[in-house]
Amino acid sequence: MAVREAGDNSVKHFDVAIVGAGHGGAQAAIQLRQLGFAGSIGLIGAEAEPPYERPPLSKDYLAGEKEFARMLIRPEAFWAERGVALHLGTNIVAVDASTRELTAEDGARFGYGALIWAAGGTPRRLSCAGGDLAGVHLVRRKSDVDSIRSGLDAVERVAVIGGGYIGLEAAAVLRKVGKEVVLVEALDRVLARVAGPEISRFYESEHRAHGVDLRLGAKVAEILGRESRAGGIRLQDGTTIAAGMAIVGIGADAAVGPLLAAGAAGANGVEVDALCRTSLPDVYAVGDCAAHRNRFAGGLRLRLESVQNAHDQASTAAKAIVGRPEPYEAIPWFWSNQYDLRLQTVGLSVGYDSTVVRGRREERSFSVIYLLEGRVIALDCVNATRDYVQGRKLVEMGAVVDPGRLADPAVALKALAD
Ligand SMILES: Cc1cc2nc3c(=O)[nH]c(=O)nc-3n(C[C@H](O)[C@H](O)[C@H](O)COP(=O)(O)OP(=O)(O)OC[C@H]3O[C@@H](n4cnc5c(N)ncnc54)[C@H](O)[C@@H]3O)c2cc1C
Repeated sequence: MAVREAGDNSVKHFDVAIVGAGHGGAQAAIQLRQLGFAGSIGLIGAEAEPPYERPPLSKDYLAGEKEFARMLIRPEAFWAERGVALHLGTNIVAVDASTRELTAEDGARFGYGALIWAAGGTPRRLSCAGGDLAGVHLVRRKSDVDSIRSGLDAVERVAVIGGGYIGLEAAAVLRKVGKEVVLVEALDRVLARVAGPEISRFYESEHRAHGVDLRLGAKVAEILGRESRAGGIRLQDGTTIAAGMAIVGIGADAAVGPLLAAGAAGANGVEVDALCRTSLPDVYAVGDCAAHRNRFAGGLRLRLESVQNAHDQASTAAKAIVGRPEPYEAIPWFWSNQYDLRLQTVGLSVGYDSTVVRGRREERSFSVIYLLEGRVIALDCVNATRDYVQGRKLVEMGAVVDPGRLADPAVALKALAD
């Protein structure tokens, strides 16, 4: 934590300043040191905690099954040992690219030689009436999940708003700890933005089988309040559902306000090139906030919200800074845990034109293989780690394979890569 005396206008200079002490920021600092970078590094983060892993927030940390200490990306002492100055609880609100200065909300100022912007995403809030009542929670930070957990005992039913990964994972945990769950999704299927209908339908039936009251095509009109606390939700069709808590997982916007205000090109994310450079001199961006052209999406510019992407882009930026540039070409991968189901994804299904289902959904072990013009572009593997591992090669190659053989579990995917 930065300690400053009143009236202290000094500017703390870092050869590399990193804004955002999450997955991308932490990895950038680690990688710089691994590459032998000897200059000063400042890791500046808005949250109070040293860098920690975010995925457990909607999984075992929410379930109370994982201690926070086990989520730290590195032990707390690591940062000082590696000469990385941590400035926690420090929210950067302005960037001046001409003087190379950052200003924090509390007035602290930092100078930089190079800047890595790794500020992640800002979770969307409900814009409807009651969206800011007590008992309405986001799931982005440790503090969000601590609030959920401290309120759960007093609650019988929870309304989960949003059927993306975070909402579904939270619903699975809540069922496990004995809560009634109603999950409301505005679209006509869950995971609609990230997976094909086969995966959506499978997860819908799993959640229903586990007792989740799943409402598809349902839009929340209002969070109903009881003495300024959430007491239920009202849907646009007039249905009301009692719930003492609401958990909102409706996506996140890139946290890039100060960088765009400083003149960086971008809109939904700051635009970066293959070396993670923004349009501002010596300013890089990595992770959830970086809109990059991804080779596994046919060169489309997009943002990826995954640990893999944050980690690998951070390494790309660090290499560019130390003068060993290597374009970002990492293959995307992702995972989600719900109940006893482990979903593993490799590649990007963006723009697919057909799918092949491999294995049997009834056995709760199968894969959906996404094809574009006959080429394998991605796999979603449910309890099918072998497909995930072996399918990676097919995605890397953009292999054209007979769909009948892809569908046949008796034919190993690795055999099809030869
Ligand atoms: C609940 C949850 C579950 C997830 N599960 C998975 C999963 O199973 N698998 C997977 O691959 N990915 C998962 N993700 C996504 C993954 O965690 C993110 O993609 C990853 O954390 C992105 O890293 P990042 O460094 O870009 O951002 P973050 O890790 O979010 O770090 C950004 C940090 O910057 C800070 N910050 C923001 N603005 C400022 C500012 N102006 N000044 C200073 N600091 C600032 C933030 O407070 C935050 O600490 C999950 C995410 C969430 C929220």
